[in-house]
Amino acid sequence: MFNEETRLEQPIRWAMVGGGRGSEIGYAHRSGASRDNNFKLVAGAFDIDADRCRDFGTSLGVDPERCYADYKTLFEAEAKRDDGIQAVSIATPNGTHYAISKAAIEAGLHVICEKPVTFTVVEAQDLKRLATENNRVFGVMYGYTGFPMIHQAREMISRGDIGEVRVINMQFAHGFHNTEVEKNSPGAKWRMNPEVSGPSYILGDVGSHVYYLAGLMTGLEVEKLCCTRQSFIKSRAPLEDNAHVMMNFTNGAVGTLWASGVNAGSMHQQKIRIIGEKASIEWWDERPNQLSYEVQGEPVRILERGMGYLYQDEPGVGHNRIGGGHAEGFFESWANLYSRFAIVMKATDEGDQKTIDNTWYPDIDAGIDGVRLIERCVESADDDAKWVKF
Ligand code: NAD
Repeated sequence: MFNEETRLEQPIRWAMVGGGRGSEIGYAHRSGASRDNNFKLVAGAFDIDADRCRDFGTSLGVDPERCYADYKTLFEAEAKRDDGIQAVSIATPNGTHYAISKAAIEAGLHVICEKPVTFTVVEAQDLKRLATENNRVFGVMYGYTGFPMIHQAREMISRGDIGEVRVINMQFAHGFHNTEVEKNSPGAKWRMNPEVSGPSYILGDVGSHVYYLAGLMTGLEVEKLCCTRQSFIKSRAPLEDNAHVMMNFTNGAVGTLWASGVNAGSMHQQKIRIIGEKASIEWWDERPNQLSYEVQGEPVRILERGMGYLYQDEPGVGHNRIGGGHAEGFFESWANLYSRFAIVMKATDEGDQKTIDNTWYPDIDAGIDGVRLIERCVESADDDAKWVKF
């Protein structure tokens, strides 16, 4: 069971850049960060519009003087205060992540950044160098990775329950963008603009999530891939709203990834199926409390979160906030991740290397890998689906 008494003596003084009123993902950050009282929202540059930032920030209980017009002013002004911020979460459109993250680390802050962390691998590696040199935590918000059943799958695979992994099927294919919704949706509009979104739309927006789950669950790395991508809504070109990727992994396993925004009729369809030599496991984000375990020749078993037959000793599996049978969801997953971010930030500030080494969280390496996926897929797709080394 998640132990709510294991928390910091003082919450980390925390700010957000982006995530303003009406944003898609701002509330998820605030909900995850505040759940266990490990972070306290004390400042922010929440919005591209300064007036809206102040109005929204004060409505959240932030001192109006600490609702800043932009991130540079936020970092400068907070650095001058005795009670200034210690960490920041960045939930702005993709094209701003690199500059804001860089400025945050240089201002001495721990960072939690949205994915994709940057447009290029070189930029992401630069953030890793900066975070390492400045001894700062850099978390990346792969928000589905706080689900206990993801960690159960990881444990099962590492303990050999399905045998050697042979095939990985990944998909995150929703239907919300099957028409030109960007005409009326600011959040969709920037996603279709390469200057703001980056070199890819759907692969970065959703494909990177399930790709990261595959690596986390199996520990396998991609050796080479080939990708084809399309813009079914023509005005979106050169950015794709549908993509298929084939992958070869270093252990000889193979995989496919389908990322789509035009899967009409579908909600998320984020599913991952990992096929080993003797059994398969499958997880679906719309039913995150369950994991299907399918041993060849036996009836399918649906494993349920919170049950004693799971590998409860593994902290990621045991992070139950309520007993099995009750539905935990997206916000619990985010709270689990924010709890880990807090633990590792405190350990970093105190030089507690043992805790750092023993606390898994999606870090800058995860961010770099996601950007590499996008870079390689675009390289392949734009060269007639050529196989490219990862
Ligand atoms: P959005 O368009 O809904 O909201 C963006 C917010 O950032 C708005 O409040 C806007 O005013 C503000 N903003 C824009 N530029 C800014 C700047 N320079 N300074 C301060 N504020 C600024 O976008 P969204 O859908 O919330 O996406 C934001 C980021 O989160 C993207 O990188 C996206 O890929 C990522 N995201 C991640 C997940 C996840 O599951 N981890 C889910 C959705 C979105």
